Amino acid sequence: MRIPCIHIWGLLLTAGLLFSAGCTESSKRPTAADGALSYMISADQLASRLGLQKSFSDGRHIELTNSTNRVLIFTHPGGNVYVNGQNIGLAGACRREDGTYYFAELLVPRIRGYLNAQTPVKPVYTPSSPSPSYSGRTVVIDAGHGGKDPGAISYLGYPEKEVNLKVAQKVAWRLKSKGIRVIMTRNNDTFIELNDRAEIANREGADLFVSIHHDSNHNRTRRGYTLYIAPNASETSRRAGRFIEKALSGTGLSSNGMRTNDYRVLMRTQGPAVLVECGYLSNPSEAAILYDGDFQNRIANAIVQGILQAL
Ligand SMILES: [Zn+2]
Repeated sequence: MRIPCIHIWGLLLTAGLLFSAGCTESSKRPTAADGALSYMISADQLASRLGLQKSFSDGRHIELTNSTNRVLIFTHPGGNVYVNGQNIGLAGACRREDGTYYFAELLVPRIRGYLNAQTPVKPVYTPSSPSPSYSGRTVVIDAGHGGKDPGAISYLGYPEKEVNLKVAQKVAWRLKSKGIRVIMTRNNDTFIELNDRAEIANREGADLFVSIHHDSNHNRTRRGYTLYIAPNASETSRRAGRFIEKALSGTGLSSNGMRTNDYRVLMRTQGPAVLVECGYLSNPSEAAILYDGDFQNRIANAIVQGILQAL
Protein backbone atom coordinates (compact mmCIF):
# COMPACT_ATOMS: atom_id res chain seq x y z
CA MET A 1 0.00 0.00 0.00
CA ARG A 2 2.80 2.41 0.82
CA ILE A 3 4.89 1.45 -2.20
CA PRO A 4 3.51 4.07 -4.66
CA CYS A 5 4.01 6.71 -2.01
CA ILE A 6 7.60 5.78 -1.27
CA HIS A 7 8.19 5.77 -5.01
CA ILE A 8 6.87 9.32 -5.40
CA TRP A 9 8.87 10.63 -2.47
CA GLY A 10 11.89 8.86 -3.79
CA LEU A 11 11.51 10.86 -7.00
CA LEU A 12 11.13 14.10 -5.09
CA LEU A 13 14.23 13.42 -3.04
CA THR A 14 16.17 12.69 -6.21
CA ALA A 15 15.02 16.06 -7.49
CA GLY A 16 16.64 17.60 -4.43
CA LEU A 17 13.40 18.57 -2.75
CA LEU A 18 13.51 17.70 0.92
CA PHE A 19 10.17 17.84 2.66
CA SER A 20 9.22 16.64 6.08
CA ALA A 21 5.90 14.80 6.27
CA GLY A 22 3.12 16.65 8.05
CA CYS A 23 2.45 20.36 8.23
CA THR A 24 5.08 22.97 9.00
CA GLU A 25 4.07 26.50 9.88
CA SER A 26 5.49 29.58 8.24
CA SER A 27 4.59 33.25 8.47
CA LYS A 28 5.69 33.98 4.91
CA ARG A 29 3.54 33.16 1.89
CA PRO A 30 5.17 30.64 -0.46
CA THR A 31 6.39 32.01 -3.78
CA ALA A 32 7.87 30.48 -6.89
CA ALA A 33 11.23 31.83 -5.67
CA ASP A 34 11.00 29.39 -2.77
CA GLY A 35 11.89 26.64 -5.21
CA ALA A 36 10.33 23.54 -3.70
CA LEU A 37 7.20 25.46 -2.79
CA SER A 38 6.47 26.14 -6.45
CA TYR A 39 5.51 22.47 -6.51
CA MET A 40 2.99 23.08 -3.75
CA ILE A 41 -0.58 24.21 -4.25
CA SER A 42 -3.16 25.50 -1.79
CA ALA A 43 -5.99 23.31 -0.50
CA ASP A 44 -8.43 25.38 -2.61
CA GLN A 45 -6.35 24.85 -5.75
CA LEU A 46 -6.10 21.15 -4.96
CA ALA A 47 -9.89 20.97 -4.60
CA SER A 48 -10.59 22.84 -7.82
CA ARG A 49 -8.09 20.78 -9.84
CA LEU A 50 -9.92 17.64 -8.66
CA GLY A 51 -13.43 19.03 -9.25
CA LEU A 52 -14.11 18.99 -5.52
CA GLN A 53 -15.17 21.58 -2.96
CA LYS A 54 -13.26 22.17 0.25
CA SER A 55 -16.04 21.38 2.70
CA PHE A 56 -14.21 21.27 6.01
CA SER A 57 -10.92 22.20 7.61
CA ASP A 58 -10.24 22.04 11.34
CA GLY A 59 -6.46 22.30 11.65
CA ARG A 60 -6.06 18.53 11.86
CA HIS A 61 -7.51 17.50 8.57
CA ILE A 62 -9.14 18.84 5.44
CA GLU A 63 -12.18 17.41 3.72
CA LEU A 64 -12.78 17.77 -0.03
CA THR A 65 -16.09 16.55 -1.43
CA ASN A 66 -18.50 16.44 -4.33
CA SER A 67 -21.70 14.42 -4.78
CA THR A 68 -19.89 11.10 -5.19
CA ASN A 69 -16.51 11.56 -3.50
CA ARG A 70 -15.07 12.33 -0.10
CA VAL A 71 -11.35 12.97 0.37
CA LEU A 72 -9.82 13.37 3.84
CA ILE A 73 -6.28 14.70 4.18
CA PHE A 74 -4.78 14.47 7.66
CA THR A 75 -2.18 17.18 8.24
CA HIS A 76 -0.28 15.77 11.25
CA PRO A 77 3.18 14.24 10.64
CA GLY A 78 2.55 10.79 9.21
CA GLY A 79 -1.05 11.74 8.35
CA ASN A 80 -2.70 9.84 5.51
CA VAL A 81 -5.03 10.61 2.62
CA TYR A 82 -8.32 8.73 2.42
CA VAL A 83 -10.39 8.68 -0.76
CA ASN A 84 -13.91 7.34 -0.22
CA GLY A 85 -12.74 5.50 2.88
CA GLN A 86 -9.67 3.98 1.24
CA ASN A 87 -6.24 4.87 2.59
CA ILE A 88 -4.10 5.86 -0.42
CA GLY A 89 -0.96 6.59 1.61
CA LEU A 90 0.81 9.46 3.31
CA ALA A 91 -0.26 13.04 2.65
CA GLY A 92 3.45 13.91 2.57
CA ALA A 93 4.70 17.48 2.50
CA CYS A 94 2.25 19.98 3.87
CA ARG A 95 2.77 23.59 4.81
CA ARG A 96 0.54 26.09 6.58
CA GLU A 97 0.84 29.75 5.62
CA ASP A 98 -1.50 32.34 7.15
CA GLY A 99 -4.11 29.68 7.84
CA THR A 100 -3.94 28.25 4.30
CA TYR A 101 -2.70 24.72 3.74
CA TYR A 102 -0.33 23.93 0.88
CA PHE A 103 0.27 20.41 -0.40
CA ALA A 104 2.52 18.83 -2.99
CA GLU A 105 1.04 19.17 -6.46
CA LEU A 106 1.70 15.45 -6.90
CA LEU A 107 -1.34 14.79 -4.71
CA VAL A 108 -3.57 15.81 -7.65
CA PRO A 109 -2.86 12.78 -9.89
CA ARG A 110 -2.54 10.48 -6.87
CA ILE A 111 -6.02 11.36 -5.58
CA ARG A 112 -7.59 11.58 -9.05
CA GLY A 113 -6.83 7.92 -9.69
CA TYR A 114 -9.15 6.93 -6.86
CA LEU A 115 -12.10 9.28 -7.49
CA ASN A 116 -15.50 8.00 -8.59
CA ALA A 117 -17.11 9.42 -11.71
CA GLN A 118 -19.80 11.91 -10.79
CA THR A 119 -23.37 10.88 -11.44
CA PRO A 120 -26.21 13.41 -11.41
CA VAL A 121 -28.13 13.45 -8.16
CA LYS A 122 -31.69 12.37 -8.91
CA PRO A 123 -34.14 12.66 -6.07
CA VAL A 124 -36.72 9.93 -6.64
CA TYR A 125 -38.97 9.84 -3.62
CA THR A 126 -38.63 10.60 0.04
CA PRO A 127 -37.82 7.45 1.98
CA SER A 128 -39.97 6.62 4.98
CA SER A 129 -38.87 8.65 7.95
CA PRO A 130 -36.43 6.92 10.30
CA SER A 131 -37.28 5.95 13.82
CA PRO A 132 -37.61 9.34 15.57
CA SER A 133 -35.93 8.23 18.76
CA TYR A 134 -32.57 7.59 17.05
CA SER A 135 -32.58 10.12 14.22
CA GLY A 136 -29.81 12.65 14.62
CA ARG A 137 -27.65 10.21 16.56
CA THR A 138 -24.23 9.35 15.17
CA VAL A 139 -22.32 6.15 15.90
CA VAL A 140 -18.82 5.46 14.61
CA ILE A 141 -18.07 1.76 14.15
CA ASP A 142 -14.39 0.89 14.04
CA ALA A 143 -13.34 -2.48 12.63
CA GLY A 144 -9.96 -3.08 14.28
CA HIS A 145 -6.74 -3.53 12.24
CA GLY A 146 -6.91 -3.91 8.42
CA GLY A 147 -4.64 -3.84 5.39
CA LYS A 148 -1.02 -4.52 6.34
CA ASP A 149 -2.05 -5.02 9.98
CA PRO A 150 -3.82 -8.41 10.27
CA GLY A 151 -4.29 -8.25 14.06
CA ALA A 152 -4.25 -11.64 15.78
CA ILE A 153 -4.06 -14.80 13.68
CA SER A 154 -6.73 -17.30 14.70
CA TYR A 155 -6.17 -20.94 15.62
CA LEU A 156 -7.74 -21.74 12.23
CA GLY A 157 -5.39 -19.41 10.36
CA TYR A 158 -7.69 -16.53 9.39
CA PRO A 159 -6.71 -12.99 10.48
CA GLU A 160 -8.52 -10.96 13.10
CA LYS A 161 -8.99 -8.00 10.70
CA GLU A 162 -11.35 -10.15 8.61
CA VAL A 163 -13.80 -11.09 11.37
CA ASN A 164 -13.60 -7.60 12.89
CA LEU A 165 -14.83 -6.17 9.57
CA LYS A 166 -17.59 -8.81 9.18
CA VAL A 167 -19.01 -8.06 12.64
CA ALA A 168 -18.56 -4.29 12.20
CA GLN A 169 -20.49 -4.32 8.89
CA LYS A 170 -23.30 -6.35 10.43
CA VAL A 171 -23.51 -3.90 13.34
CA ALA A 172 -23.46 -0.92 10.95
CA TRP A 173 -26.29 -2.28 8.74
CA ARG A 174 -28.49 -2.94 11.75
CA LEU A 175 -27.89 0.52 13.24
CA LYS A 176 -28.61 2.21 9.89
CA SER A 177 -31.93 0.40 9.67
CA LYS A 178 -32.85 2.11 12.95
CA GLY A 179 -32.28 5.53 11.38
CA ILE A 180 -28.92 6.08 13.06
CA ARG A 181 -26.17 7.89 11.16
CA VAL A 182 -23.38 5.33 11.05
CA ILE A 183 -19.82 6.04 10.03
CA MET A 184 -17.33 3.22 9.61
CA THR A 185 -13.64 3.99 10.03
CA ARG A 186 -13.03 1.36 7.34
CA ASN A 187 -15.42 -0.61 5.16
CA ASN A 188 -12.85 -2.74 3.38
CA ASP A 189 -9.41 -4.23 3.98
CA THR A 190 -7.63 -0.92 4.55
CA PHE A 191 -4.98 0.06 7.07
CA ILE A 192 -5.97 3.13 9.07
CA GLU A 193 -3.78 4.70 11.75
CA LEU A 194 -5.15 4.58 15.29
CA ASN A 195 -5.04 8.37 15.60
CA ASP A 196 -6.99 8.76 12.36
CA ARG A 197 -9.69 6.41 13.67
CA ALA A 198 -10.19 8.60 16.75
CA GLU A 199 -10.07 11.72 14.56
CA ILE A 200 -12.99 10.41 12.51
CA ALA A 201 -15.09 10.02 15.67
CA ASN A 202 -14.08 13.48 16.91
CA ARG A 203 -14.80 15.18 13.61
CA GLU A 204 -18.18 13.48 13.20
CA GLY A 205 -19.18 14.40 16.76
CA ALA A 206 -19.98 10.75 17.45
CA ASP A 207 -22.48 10.00 20.21
CA LEU A 208 -20.65 6.71 20.59
CA PHE A 209 -17.46 5.14 19.18
CA VAL A 210 -17.40 1.35 19.19
CA SER A 211 -14.18 -0.43 18.26
CA ILE A 212 -14.57 -4.10 17.35
CA HIS A 213 -11.76 -6.59 17.95
CA HIS A 214 -11.16 -10.27 18.70
CA ASP A 215 -8.76 -11.44 21.38
CA SER A 216 -5.80 -13.81 21.39
CA ASN A 217 -3.56 -15.37 24.03
CA HIS A 218 -0.76 -17.94 24.11
CA ASN A 219 -2.95 -19.82 26.58
CA ARG A 220 -5.41 -21.56 24.25
CA THR A 221 -7.94 -22.21 27.03
CA ARG A 222 -8.65 -18.48 27.44
CA ARG A 223 -12.12 -17.66 26.17
CA GLY A 224 -15.00 -15.22 26.28
CA TYR A 225 -15.62 -11.60 25.42
CA THR A 226 -14.31 -8.49 27.21
CA LEU A 227 -15.42 -4.87 27.18
CA TYR A 228 -12.82 -2.11 27.48
CA ILE A 229 -13.14 1.56 28.35
CA ALA A 230 -10.41 4.15 28.99
CA PRO A 231 -9.19 4.52 32.62
CA ASN A 232 -10.61 8.05 32.68
CA ALA A 233 -13.79 7.07 30.79
CA SER A 234 -16.92 9.17 31.11
CA GLU A 235 -20.05 7.83 32.77
CA THR A 236 -21.61 7.59 29.28
CA SER A 237 -18.79 5.31 28.14
CA ARG A 238 -19.23 3.16 31.26
CA ARG A 239 -22.98 2.91 30.67
CA ALA A 240 -22.46 1.91 27.04
CA GLY A 241 -19.86 -0.67 28.05
CA ARG A 242 -22.16 -2.16 30.68
CA PHE A 243 -25.12 -2.39 28.26
CA ILE A 244 -23.05 -4.08 25.54
CA GLU A 245 -21.42 -6.41 28.09
CA LYS A 246 -24.85 -7.47 29.38
CA ALA A 247 -26.34 -7.90 25.89
CA LEU A 248 -23.42 -10.09 24.75
CA SER A 249 -24.11 -12.53 27.59
CA GLY A 250 -27.11 -13.67 25.51
CA THR A 251 -24.83 -15.01 22.77
CA GLY A 252 -23.63 -17.97 24.81
CA LEU A 253 -20.07 -16.67 25.07
CA SER A 254 -18.72 -16.23 28.59
CA SER A 255 -18.04 -12.75 29.90
CA ASN A 256 -14.73 -11.46 31.20
CA GLY A 257 -16.52 -8.32 32.32
CA MET A 258 -15.62 -4.70 31.69
CA ARG A 259 -12.01 -3.56 32.10
CA THR A 260 -10.05 -0.37 31.68
CA ASN A 261 -7.11 0.00 29.31
CA ASP A 262 -5.35 2.99 27.78
CA TYR A 263 -5.87 1.83 24.18
CA ARG A 264 -5.09 4.75 21.88
CA VAL A 265 -8.49 4.75 20.13
CA LEU A 266 -10.19 5.03 23.53
CA MET A 267 -7.81 7.68 24.90
CA ARG A 268 -7.93 9.94 21.84
CA THR A 269 -11.67 9.80 21.19
CA GLN A 270 -13.21 12.83 22.87
CA GLY A 271 -16.75 11.43 23.10
CA PRO A 272 -18.00 8.17 24.63
CA ALA A 273 -15.94 5.21 23.44
CA VAL A 274 -15.81 1.47 24.07
CA LEU A 275 -13.78 -1.40 22.65
CA VAL A 276 -15.22 -4.91 22.36
CA GLU A 277 -13.06 -8.01 22.22
CA CYS A 278 -15.66 -10.46 20.90
CA GLY A 279 -13.89 -13.68 21.91
CA TYR A 280 -10.58 -15.56 21.71
CA LEU A 281 -9.33 -16.48 18.24
CA SER A 282 -6.55 -18.46 19.93
CA ASN A 283 -9.12 -20.79 21.48
CA PRO A 284 -9.84 -23.65 19.01
CA SER A 285 -13.60 -23.84 19.62
CA GLU A 286 -14.13 -20.08 19.79
CA ALA A 287 -12.04 -19.60 16.63
CA ALA A 288 -14.55 -21.83 14.84
CA ILE A 289 -17.78 -20.22 16.06
CA LEU A 290 -16.44 -16.67 15.70
CA TYR A 291 -15.85 -17.39 12.00
CA ASP A 292 -19.43 -18.56 11.51
CA GLY A 293 -21.71 -16.02 9.82
CA ASP A 294 -24.75 -16.93 11.89
CA PHE A 295 -22.82 -16.58 15.12
CA GLN A 296 -21.46 -13.23 13.92
CA ASN A 297 -25.12 -12.17 13.43
CA ARG A 298 -25.78 -13.10 17.03
CA ILE A 299 -22.82 -11.03 18.23
CA ALA A 300 -23.83 -8.09 16.02
CA ASN A 301 -27.42 -8.20 17.32
CA ALA A 302 -26.15 -8.12 20.90
CA ILE A 303 -23.76 -5.20 20.27
CA VAL A 304 -26.58 -3.29 18.54
CA GLN A 305 -28.94 -3.97 21.43
CA GLY A 306 -26.36 -2.56 23.85
CA ILE A 307 -25.70 0.50 21.65
CA LEU A 308 -29.44 1.27 21.33
CA GLN A 309 -29.85 1.09 25.10
CA ALA A 310 -26.87 3.41 25.54
CA LEU A 311 -28.05 6.08 23.06
ZN1 LIG B 1 -7.31 -6.41 17.77
